[in-house]
Amino acid sequence: GTVLVTGANGYIAVWVVKSFLDQGFSVRGTVRSESKATHLRSLFKPFGDKFEVVIVEDITKEGAFDEAVKGVDAIAHTASPFHFKADDPDELIGPAVHGTTGILASALKHAPTVQRIVVTSSCAAVLTPSPEPRVFSEADWNEASIIEVEEKGREATNFAKYRASKTLAERAAWEFWEKRKGEVQWDLVVANPPFVFGPFLHEVDKPENLNESARDWYDTIVKGTKDTEALVNIGSSYVDVRDLALGHVLAVTKQEAGGERIIISAGPWKWQDFVSVAHRLYPSLPAGNTSYDPATTVHLIRYAPDKERKLLGIKFKSLEETTKDTLDDFKARGWL
Ligand code: NDP
Repeated sequence: GTVLVTGANGYIAVWVVKSFLDQGFSVRGTVRSESKATHLRSLFKPFGDKFEVVIVEDITKEGAFDEAVKGVDAIAHTASPFHFKADDPDELIGPAVHGTTGILASALKHAPTVQRIVVTSSCAAVLTPSPEPRVFSEADWNEASIIEVEEKGREATNFAKYRASKTLAERAAWEFWEKRKGEVQWDLVVANPPFVFGPFLHEVDKPENLNESARDWYDTIVKGTKDTEALVNIGSSYVDVRDLALGHVLAVTKQEAGGERIIISAGPWKWQDFVSVAHRLYPSLPAGNTSYDPATTVHLIRYAPDKERKLLGIKFKSLEETTKDTLDDFKARGWL
């Protein structure tokens, strides 16, 4: 079968493309310009004509994906802005929502062969910051960020702007599918990862230009930008980018996943968890907060693993493994 992967040059997407190719699929990737195709073509050259790139300049334009979807059996829609520097929240919300509804509309009109569409949402569309420890599941929706953006507009926090974009985009995907599920032959799966870490394959010239999550990790672990309080208090959950990529493949191949929203999380962390492993492996890296005790730390946000276990059953890479492979990758690039 052939899978269309949107935003194929992104951090997560390149691994998604690779996973599909490794599993024997043909992949058509979309990027915004020809210059973003070059690296991908050389990276996936070993797969010959099983990999192709098409240019979709503006994913918010009506019919943008009309040509790209033709003849594909599945779609993984990953393209969406992920950064914390938007002034106007619509810089994020526009492409997130219209990119998502746009690809679904193009599939509806031009891709009678599509069986499955996977949308890369986020735990940003699930969580609500909580002062008390809380376990979130697929039943939870981040309405709070939408409300914050509605009330404060440009004055909303950058977190809220991004999280609102992911929540609104995912909601739009489900609304679109709910309305038409009786008439379409495909079903929708939504993948909700927390922070995504791990080595990278996409084109990056220097650490400052890494994607948002990998740059935060690099800054914290290698440059030591967070203070000792932040290291033991700030945390979330993570998934290794390679496991998430496999999750996208399973979201396409597992029949039972159809119609499901699935949190794909390996487990919780505090920054110091990564710092401790990193310092042990590469003693020249900062030691961070040596008074940290992982056994007694409280994780405010956790995710229920049940649905992922039942439907996908990924054997998640450990935090140690992710840390080691990422640092080895940085090392090989001369970034340590
Ligand atoms: P990247 O920034 O590496 O990739 C984002 C991709 O989306 C790129 O291909 C980018 O294209 C494309 N894109 C961004 N804005 C636009 C736009 N306005 N129009 C068209 N294309 C656009 O980030 P990630 O790989 O981390 O993110 C991929 C997906 O995963 C996103 O949907 C993100 O929300 C989601 N996600 C990421 C997490 C993480 O921790 N990294 C966690 C949870 C979800 P270009 O290079 O041309 O800008």
